[in-house]
Amino acid sequence: MKDDTSKLLLLDQHNRQHTYLRLSITDVCNFHCGYCLPHGYKKASQDFLTIEEIKHLLKAFAVLGLQKIRITGGEPTVRKDFLSIVEMLQQFPDIRVRALSTNGFQLQKMAKNLFSAGLNAINISIDSLDPNKFFALTKQNRLSEVLAGINTAVDVGFKHVKVNAVLLKDTNDNELADFLVWLKAMPITVRFIELMQTGTNRDFFDKFHISSQFIREKLINEGWQKINKDSLAGPAEEYQHADYAGRVGIIAPYSNNFCNSCNRLRISAQGQLFLCLFGNLGYSIRDLLQSDTQTLELTNKICSLLQLKESSHKLATLDTGANQHFAAIGG
Ligand code: SAM
Ligand code: SF4
Repeated sequence: MKDDTSKLLLLDQHNRQHTYLRLSITDVCNFHCGYCLPHGYKKASQDFLTIEEIKHLLKAFAVLGLQKIRITGGEPTVRKDFLSIVEMLQQFPDIRVRALSTNGFQLQKMAKNLFSAGLNAINISIDSLDPNKFFALTKQNRLSEVLAGINTAVDVGFKHVKVNAVLLKDTNDNELADFLVWLKAMPITVRFIELMQTGTNRDFFDKFHISSQFIREKLINEGWQKINKDSLAGPAEEYQHADYAGRVGIIAPYSNNFCNSCNRLRISAQGQLFLCLFGNLGYSIRDLLQSDTQTLELTNKICSLLQLKESSHKLATLDTGANQHFAAIGG
C-alpha cells in the first residue's frame, strides 16, 4: 500500500503500521541473566549476518517506511564490526531513530564513538541497583562499570537513555524507591518489564514472575502522571513527575490489548524475520540479502509475510511460540 510520500507502508491485516525493526546482530552474550541465558551462551552456529547483508536489509526496510531501528542481540557490542554497523545506519537518514540495546559492559569506553557514529538512543539492562543482586542475576560483577557507562552516555550528549529492569518477585520488586532516588537528577527513563516466559525459563518464570500493577499504583499515588505516547513508542506506558529529571516506564505484556499498538518486526542474527517475539516460526529472508539488485523482491517478500502476522501473542495460554530465549531473537 502507498502513502502520501509514495513510500510503501508495512501495514498488517490488523491495521497496525510497522515502523520499528529490532535487528539482532549476534546471539552471543557474556552475561548469564537467569531469565535469558542462565548457563551462558552455548555455541551454536555463529554464521551471523554480515555488514553487507545488513545494508541490503536496511535498504529494503527504508523503502518500506521504517523509522526506527534497534541493534540488539545477544550482546551486540561483542561483535568486532559493531561500530562499523552503527556507522552504516547513517546511510539511511529516513530511519531517524537509531537505537541500541546493551548490557552496558563496554558503554563507558564506547559511548562517545557511538554518539559520533550517529546512534541516538540507548537502552541498558540493569535489573538491580544492589551490586550483590546484580551479580546474582547476571553472574557479572560489573554494576559500577555499567552505571559509569550510563553517566558517560548522558555526558557525551545522548538524549534518549533508557534502563530496562526485568521485574522479579522477591528480588528487585522492592527497589522502586532506589530507582526513584537515582531519577531525581538523572535525565533517563527506567522501565520495569514484566518477566516473560520463554521455551527455556519455565521454572524461573513460575518462581519470579510478578505483575507490574503495584508499580503503576505506587507511581500514581505519588503524583506521577502518564505521558501521551509518540507514534514510535509501542506498547510501553511512561510516567513523569515535576520533581524528577527522569521518567518511569512500564512494559506489561500480559495485560489486555498489549498487542494492539505493536509496531515492530524482528530479524534474528541469522536473517530470519520474526513477526512476533512469540511467533511460531522465523522466515528466512537471507537468500534475498545477497545483492543490491534484490531490493524489490525482498520488499515484496517482507510485505507478504507481514500479512501472516497474528493479532496477539498467546502467552496467556503458556504458548511461547518458537522463542527459546530472548538472546536468540533480540528481545
Ligand atoms: N544484551 C542486551 C541487553 O541485555 O540489554 C540486549 C539483548 S536482551 C535479550 C534485550 C532485553 O530483553 C533486555 O532488557 C533483557 O532484560 C530483556 N529480556 C531478556 N529475557 C527476558 C524475559 N524472559 N522477559 C523479559 N525481558 C527479557
Ligand atoms: Fe545477555 Fe541481554 Fe540475555 Fe542478559 S538479557 S543474558 S545481557 S542477552
